[in-house]
Amino acid sequence: MIIAIDGPAGTGKSTVAKSLAKRLNFFYFDTGAMYRAFSLLCLNHAIDIDNEEQVKKLLDNFNYDIKDLNGEKHYFLNKEDVTQSIRTPEVTSIVSKIASYPFLREELVKIQRKFGEKEDAVFEGRDMGTVVFPNAEVKIFLTANPEVRAERRYKEFQEKFPEKSSTLSLNQILEDIQKRDHTDATREVSPLKQASDAHLIDTSQISANEVVDCIILKVRDVKKKLKRSLFYKVIRFIAKCFFKLFFRLKVYGVENIPKRSCIIASNHASFFDPPLIAVSCPYEIHFLARSSLFKNRMFSWLIKKLNAHPIGMKANDRKTFKVIFSILRKNQKLLIFPEGARSKKGELTPIKSGIGFIALKSGASIVPTYVDGTYEAWPRNKKFPSFFQKVSCMFGAPISMEDYKHLEKEEAIQAVVEKTEKSIKELQQHFKNKIKK
Ligand code: C5P
Repeated sequence: MIIAIDGPAGTGKSTVAKSLAKRLNFFYFDTGAMYRAFSLLCLNHAIDIDNEEQVKKLLDNFNYDIKDLNGEKHYFLNKEDVTQSIRTPEVTSIVSKIASYPFLREELVKIQRKFGEKEDAVFEGRDMGTVVFPNAEVKIFLTANPEVRAERRYKEFQEKFPEKSSTLSLNQILEDIQKRDHTDATREVSPLKQASDAHLIDTSQISANEVVDCIILKVRDVKKKLKRSLFYKVIRFIAKCFFKLFFRLKVYGVENIPKRSCIIASNHASFFDPPLIAVSCPYEIHFLARSSLFKNRMFSWLIKKLNAHPIGMKANDRKTFKVIFSILRKNQKLLIFPEGARSKKGELTPIKSGIGFIALKSGASIVPTYVDGTYEAWPRNKKFPSFFQKVSCMFGAPISMEDYKHLEKEEAIQAVVEKTEKSIKELQQHFKNKIKK
């Protein structure tokens, strides 16, 4: 689960995000610290920060790391601990300018998303809910009046840098905050703004603990909704026993499946493939099914409970895409057979371009998946399965859409399709050469 906390400086984001992460045992990520570390690098190299080329060149020298030391996060720039030095007024005065460079945001956002792929995490920043994690399960936007924010920052500054406390007045901090708010909210790329589905909390009059309590209530609500239904669990358990007992099911690579929404893209050779993948995946999977299957009321009730979603006859009509994007937007996992239909003899067939379009538009990563033995267990032309054949399911490393965003639309779709097809073939080869032997 991702909790995205956004808001301007001094609203208590860091205090709230840290304490929330601690209470929920989530990973904590302060994205502002990254922009600050890059700003410090600019200061260290004494470059002209208005000169985009000079700033760009420093990207190659930016090695950023985060370590937990005695329960506190420490930030490292090129191996040097800069946890304190990124908070100085010198850094603060240039960070908004630096953070407005699109090329820099693009690079840093990539790193932020990578961190968010596998872990439950609290991310704080300015564009978490709008740009970096538009599908975050919980989005919070903190606000507070500028005077309260300036006072908080003033106190913080006095505590962190007591020797410098006389060099900065409350008024100067207020001015700086207002200037930064303006730069952050008016920049062209990823401006500071509340996501339409974010909860707004005004922290002017309430304590950080109260804010955390309020967010935890929201997290609980979301968790309840995300909880697997008991029905799905029971049916999946029975089906898993069935496959293990009668088809000696083996599963590989479950660690490759991200916790967040993704597209499970598998080869397709048999009616067995959807249930086999569902029982192999530790998370709930959603399926697309022809609307004709929903005509019988009892059967329709059953398959809906098992996350089947009705779609039209054509795989690429508007209604189908609507269903698909709505599933992915809700952070769910969707099974797609990108070859389109079951192969005739169990072989891999070329995949269609739809998966590239869907993945790029939704931003969901693709988990290439290979199922083996299902054709032998229940081929196309047989009415009933042949028991005691061996079946296996193998999940490969996820394909992140971040790596294709710089390409033109058509080129990106083509590249994603090729990569997916190649990955499924590689899984097949790996399975045949290393596992089946
Ligand atoms: O959160 P903090 O005040 O440390 O952030 C410093 C600056 O970094 C912000 O004023 C903003 O300009 C920039 N920032 C950003 N996007 C983020 C986080 C911080 O532009 N996600």
